[in-house]
Amino acid sequence: MKRYIVYSKIKFIALVLFKALYAAAFVGFALILQWLVNTITADGATADQLFFCVGIAIGYVAVFTAILLLKDKASTAYINKAVMLLRNDLTHSLLHERYEDFASNDTAKYLSHLTNDIKTVAVSGFNSVITLPEEIFTFVFAVAAAFFINYVVALTMLGLTLLIFIVPVVFNKPLNRANVRLSDAVKQYTAALKQTFLGIDVVKNFGSEERTEREIARINETLCKKNTVLDKLNLYAGDVGIFIVVLLQLGSIAIAGYMMLQSVILIGAVIAVVQLSGNMYSPLMQIAGKAALISGIRELDETLLAMAQPPEAQGEKLFGFERGIRVENVGFGYPDHEDLTLKNVSAAFEKGKKYLIVGKSGSGKSTLLKLIGKTFNGYVGKIEIDGVDYRNISERELYKNIAFAQQKSYLFDLTVRENIDFNGTGDAQLLEHAVEIAELRDFVLAQKNGLDEQISEEINQISGGEKQRVGLARAIYKDTDILLLDEVTSSLDKETAYRVEKNILALRDKTVLNVSHKLHADLLEKYDYICVMDGGKIVGFAPPAALLKNNALSQYMDA
Ligand code: ADP
Ligand code: MG
Repeated sequence: MKRYIVYSKIKFIALVLFKALYAAAFVGFALILQWLVNTITADGATADQLFFCVGIAIGYVAVFTAILLLKDKASTAYINKAVMLLRNDLTHSLLHERYEDFASNDTAKYLSHLTNDIKTVAVSGFNSVITLPEEIFTFVFAVAAAFFINYVVALTMLGLTLLIFIVPVVFNKPLNRANVRLSDAVKQYTAALKQTFLGIDVVKNFGSEERTEREIARINETLCKKNTVLDKLNLYAGDVGIFIVVLLQLGSIAIAGYMMLQSVILIGAVIAVVQLSGNMYSPLMQIAGKAALISGIRELDETLLAMAQPPEAQGEKLFGFERGIRVENVGFGYPDHEDLTLKNVSAAFEKGKKYLIVGKSGSGKSTLLKLIGKTFNGYVGKIEIDGVDYRNISERELYKNIAFAQQKSYLFDLTVRENIDFNGTGDAQLLEHAVEIAELRDFVLAQKNGLDEQISEEINQISGGEKQRVGLARAIYKDTDILLLDEVTSSLDKETAYRVEKNILALRDKTVLNVSHKLHADLLEKYDYICVMDGGKIVGFAPPAALLKNNALSQYMDA
């Protein structure tokens, strides 16, 4: 947490000093009171003296209020900036996380971390730590002032403060637990909402609004319960604190009153002790409360800070793609799946050649492509590019050489142009080329603003086939040597699919691995190799002529 709380040493020190000034002014008021009461209760005191003292006291309070306002202003700005920095670091590290690690979590979890948990950490953690010096200074100055008045009174008051530590001892553990449980409940709630929004078509179509509503209400009820537990604990901790503080104040007054009766101190000192006991016990109570809050969010804080860690160092550099990709005895199973999805797969893909990958649904085609795209790293065997082991290459480095178009591509809330030229490099010729290859020309012409038409995934104004083609154009625009295409024509009509595939096969220098189940007889022979998969294995890998002769492809051919 320190990294964020002391994000600027100078500002932090200035803030702490400001808080010290505020605490001194706050405690100083007790001494002003003592002076005021002693002056007006002295023998021969006059009304003029009273008005003079009150005037000074009012002036003092005015200055104190000004310091208070300035302190609060600076403190709030400082805390909010610390939270902003943590949020930025979280986004940074999530974006730089290995794809596999990122994808192994539901995005709802990240959202709830970035919204709810960060708020808890900000309020309970940052806020508590940053405001803590106020209470510490107030307490220290109050003790000093008490010693200034009378050391016996001061020592007694100090001894009584030990009682305050009952609160953190009793409440810390339950608070910690309640925080973690609430965080889990929020995660569930966010996940349920996300699913519902994404699947709203199904919900509507099945007329299952009520069932969905009930389900969300059930999760919401759990959320409410966890929230109540936490709030209750927080309030109880405060209530017990107030009770103890009142007891201690009464104790202090009893001691000071007794000493006044013994003529050791004057009435002014008793009044000052009343004021000082507030200055001493309340801040200490706050310190204990904040310690409880801070320790209550420790687990959450650790989760967030672990998430905000900068990503690991990058791997070897690749200098362009020269020879090819080799997959050697690769076996891979998805987590929580007993069977291996890929079994002992070996294949070599040479630079510049075109490969068609066919096979029944579920035979492992997409998985193989994903491994070649370094989406997953937990495989056995070896994958190499130009002789360099994938395990030694960072995603970022590899992706400079690979464009991957999936069956379903995501469209951002941007224009067609910005969706294709995603990094905004602005190469008009390349854009033209990408639109051409993906057969998007007619689509672009049909838009009122052409390439500058705003499109949106969320409001479904674009068809599945159009989406696929924009995704493909995006991959083409990336202009890498290697193109991994996973069923990129599956939502297109037969004719358009044919033209798109033909265009892709005409890309002379590109190495293309095309997974498809739409086979066109006269395009088959344009591939250099056809790879047939079945049950997670490669069962055929040969030039098209050889496979066609054996009729090995007929089961994958369209009518
Ligand atoms: P294909 O692309 O040939 O249809 P896939 O490679 O997508 O096949 O899937 C192969 C097998 O792996 C299927 O049985 C599928 O259920 C399983 N599978 C695919 N993706 C995942 C995943 N993310 N988690 C678990 N199992 C998966
Ligand atoms: Mg697939």
